[in-house]
Amino acid sequence: MSTATHLAHDIKIIEDSARQFAQAHILPHVMEWDESQTFPMDLMHQLGEQGFLGVLVPEEYGGSGLGYQEYITIITEIAKVCGSIGLSLAAHNSLCTNHILSFGNEEQKRKWIPKLATGEWIGAWGLTEPNTGSDAMRMQCTAVKDGDDYIINGTKCWITHGKSGHVAVVIVRTGELLDSHGMTAFVIERGTPGLKAGKKENKLGMRASETAEMIFEDCRVPAANILGKVGDGFIQSMKILDGGRISIGALGLGIAKGAYEASVKYSKERHQFGQPISNFQAISFKLADMATKIEAAEHLLRKAAELKNAGQNCTKIAAMAKYYASEVSVQVATDAVQIFGGYGYTKDFPVEKFYRDSKLCTIGEGTSEIQKMVIARELTKEL
Ligand SMILES: Cc1cc2nc3c(=O)[nH]c(=O)nc-3n(C[C@H](O)[C@H](O)[C@H](O)COP(=O)(O)OP(=O)(O)OC[C@H]3O[C@@H](n4cnc5c(N)ncnc54)[C@H](O)[C@@H]3O)c2cc1C
Repeated sequence: MSTATHLAHDIKIIEDSARQFAQAHILPHVMEWDESQTFPMDLMHQLGEQGFLGVLVPEEYGGSGLGYQEYITIITEIAKVCGSIGLSLAAHNSLCTNHILSFGNEEQKRKWIPKLATGEWIGAWGLTEPNTGSDAMRMQCTAVKDGDDYIINGTKCWITHGKSGHVAVVIVRTGELLDSHGMTAFVIERGTPGLKAGKKENKLGMRASETAEMIFEDCRVPAANILGKVGDGFIQSMKILDGGRISIGALGLGIAKGAYEASVKYSKERHQFGQPISNFQAISFKLADMATKIEAAEHLLRKAAELKNAGQNCTKIAAMAKYYASEVSVQVATDAVQIFGGYGYTKDFPVEKFYRDSKLCTIGEGTSEIQKMVIARELTKEL
């Protein structure tokens, strides 16, 4: 078997296992969790047992030791059934865990990675603040040195698992405003005095993925919890977001595939004017557009994953994949609701949820506008 055939074979096995897991353990609860905004911690532990919470982590740290192709396959399959769980998987794997794995020293990796990779602990990652989302360099949350510790004050918001996460990587200001070397990444465990959870957001979509504020009031954290060097936090975050963007692209792709598959099925079953609505060109052309966009999004994502696996610079392609797959997600989910007609506007069919969930993909981990800025900046470097 060639390497490519091996890879395709392995991915098929992983795809089947993620699909079976999602059908058995997620699908029966999707609407209940969505309506009550329940973050299913038990399910997260089960995902850990499956190896889905340490996908990119080497086996020596308790992970699955897989690459980005397998990772996007898992996120896509889970998001086909529930975007919220896909988002939680993405934040845990490629933000929190990957930040510690990429920039932690050996002691830090041994301390936190096995717990995260096995799902014993759930991870969070905090960059965004109430007044600084896209403009993260103006963050206000500060860490001030005090002996062997740092004292952290400020608020991080919109943090996935900000309340229930057992540990978070938090990027805070240790230097001057607007200095790209003025920010530092700390690992902070839940229960650390001075850290409390704030408001849990009541969201349009992704309602089973917890999003909450993290409030720091004279929170004392040992300098030993710094990842890499003081001042490296922002640069590290930009590198982490390259991988994060691939995972949000995969999230968008999964939502689009779920909405598309439901639409094909429905269009063959629903009859109007004495025939299935799939016979109408207006509907079949929509399906053709949806399928074409999904195929193109997947190719971009696979290219980004290939570069990432090879350790090559993937900033431009990852931003393109995130931007395109997210926009496709929204377009496909919107068309899906249209194909379902009035039924698509109800909670009796899955497409209204795909429609609500899809919008997060164009916002989280850098909005579509910010992706275009990143792409344009990379292009000007090339030309
Ligand atoms: C469900 C959810 C989960 C999240 N999880 C996390 C998490 O785990 N950790 C974390 O740190 N953050 C998280 N976020 C935050 C997310 O990354 C931010 O919402 C996102 O980066 C946008 O920031 P903002 O919301 O402050 O929007 P703003 O930055 O205020 O942007 C508002 C609008 O202005 C546009 N805009 C801003 N600047 C420019 C510019 N220079 N040029 C053109 N247009 C511009 C934006 O594209 C957008 O359309 C999450 C958000 C959500 C909704």
